[in-house]
Amino acid sequence: MFEITVNNRVIDAEPGDTILTALSRVGIKIPTLCYMKGLIPTGACRICVVEVEGMRGLVPSCSFPVQENMKIQTNSPKVIRARKTIIELLLADHPDDCLYCVRSGTCRLQALAEEYGIRERLFRHIRKEDALDMSSPSIVRDQDKCILCGKCIRTCEEIQKVSAIEFVGRGSKTIVAPAFKESLNISSCINCGQCITACPTGALRENSSLQEVSDAIADPEKIVVIQHAPSVSISLAEEFGMKPGTDINGLMTAALRRMGFDYVFETAFSADLTIMEEATELVGRITKNGVLPMFTSCSPGWIKFVEEFYPEFIPNLSTCKSPQSMLGALIKSYFAEKMGIDPRKIFSVSVMPCTAKKFEAARPEIGHDNLSDLDAVITTRELARFIRMSGIDFDHLQPEEADLPFGERSTAGKLFAATGGVMEAALRTAHKLITGKELKSLKIEQVRGTEGIREAKLKIGDLELGIAVVNGVGNARNLLEQIKAGRKDLHFVEVMTCPGGCLGGGGQPITLEDTDRLKMRTNSLYNIDQSENLRTSHDNVSVQNLYKEYLGVPNSEKAHHLLHTVYEKRNVLV
Ligand code: SF4
Ligand code: SF4
Ligand code: SF4
Repeated sequence: MFEITVNNRVIDAEPGDTILTALSRVGIKIPTLCYMKGLIPTGACRICVVEVEGMRGLVPSCSFPVQENMKIQTNSPKVIRARKTIIELLLADHPDDCLYCVRSGTCRLQALAEEYGIRERLFRHIRKEDALDMSSPSIVRDQDKCILCGKCIRTCEEIQKVSAIEFVGRGSKTIVAPAFKESLNISSCINCGQCITACPTGALRENSSLQEVSDAIADPEKIVVIQHAPSVSISLAEEFGMKPGTDINGLMTAALRRMGFDYVFETAFSADLTIMEEATELVGRITKNGVLPMFTSCSPGWIKFVEEFYPEFIPNLSTCKSPQSMLGALIKSYFAEKMGIDPRKIFSVSVMPCTAKKFEAARPEIGHDNLSDLDAVITTRELARFIRMSGIDFDHLQPEEADLPFGERSTAGKLFAATGGVMEAALRTAHKLITGKELKSLKIEQVRGTEGIREAKLKIGDLELGIAVVNGVGNARNLLEQIKAGRKDLHFVEVMTCPGGCLGGGGQPITLEDTDRLKMRTNSLYNIDQSENLRTSHDNVSVQNLYKEYLGVPNSEKAHHLLHTVYEKRNVLV
């Protein structure tokens, strides 16, 4: 440690610190539009400039290393003037669209303009007026609102290792786009939406389905059914100013009923069902010399990643549809028959933490008997907008239970929200299937955590199982390369497209606060698992009844018809 002086006050700093990191530890906030924790700083936006004694010009604090006895001014008139000018120049190229913008209130550019008291447009420039790219079912790109910070490109290239977008063109003609300025639907984009959550402005957003949902609710001929993914009840609260990690499952159910949904189901039910199907498939592959390692198939960005970049591993993907699609299929079959409803009258909506689920719902592989499994997918953010639009006040609601039969779930199903959750749930049930006994401790520490790849060897009966848990497809690429090179010790691999799993999904709330929301959401999920009694998928009575009444046994012909699918190498990039 050594000392530096900041705004005439002495503070400690560490060798290797940049000015920005040293100051953030002592509560001095430096604004930035391009900084990304954990990645090498680019200094692209220059908003973070500070004055350093002895230097002629201002320096970018995100990339400038601290030195012993350095004297820094973070808010001198020169610094403030420079930052204001940078914001004014960014706004010169920016539409005055805040009233209509999806990011109004959570936009960092808007917040900076307010913080620095920008009250008029000082500079004018001929704007790019590039057309909106609405080609992707998941993501809309609005180049007019892009400030060229590069965060989306770095997320796509350095974190996800997909490289679907890049800077194209030069000088004032530079834009962010897929190669050759093609539209997103014919790029290698896997629809993860991580670029949206990285973007400081409204230049990237989800392709919204709220209008279709609201039209369906208003249609008296339609029965509108909604399912919500395990992570949504834990993250939605942030949109309403509550502490990250606050679980509002019951209140959300009450709100959905008041908004006009006829039935409210939990996707965690079909996560339990996925475990029954997937654990049976795994045991079958192991005992009958099937293709191993088996990869989970519940994360649609990961599926497209394999189809796109590693088609030789398609046979390794579990044939299980994702829980969203499994439940969609059951709503329009088992549930419709049970209730005497014409399945064509059902409008099936799912709320997901994920933009890639929109792509999944539109896939030809997802559906049965000429019916689509799902009619609309909305993100957690869209649900929050819909709740606000519907005038729902959580303060005046009491928690309600979801509808049966698809409202019953175990905490194993709920664990699908976190990286390692599918693995933990599957191991709880695989142990029961293989040994006939429950695991002594249901908490499986080896699969919990935040590292990009976690591996373990687990003994179940006579079987030694090699497992790996991966979050972020960039990390999956590393593991796939090892397997390609001949690695053979793995039986089962869980891959979640997004860092942190669904709790860190590309459809999750975006706020201006810098708290570690992912950690708080994950802690909340594990508290739910610890505090409830039904913790294994195979003990979910509604799942057991579904097999007794309708599906027969896991992996039966009927189960395969409704709950499984197959994927193919992607020749045309759509
Ligand atoms: S991106 Fe930000 S500044 Fe631009 S219109 Fe949207 S809210 Fe306003
Ligand atoms: S959605 Fe994911 S894959 Fe597509 S451009 Fe964004 S970060 Fe890249
Ligand atoms: S789209 Fe968003 S994240 Fe990407 S460069 Fe533009 S402003 Fe930055």
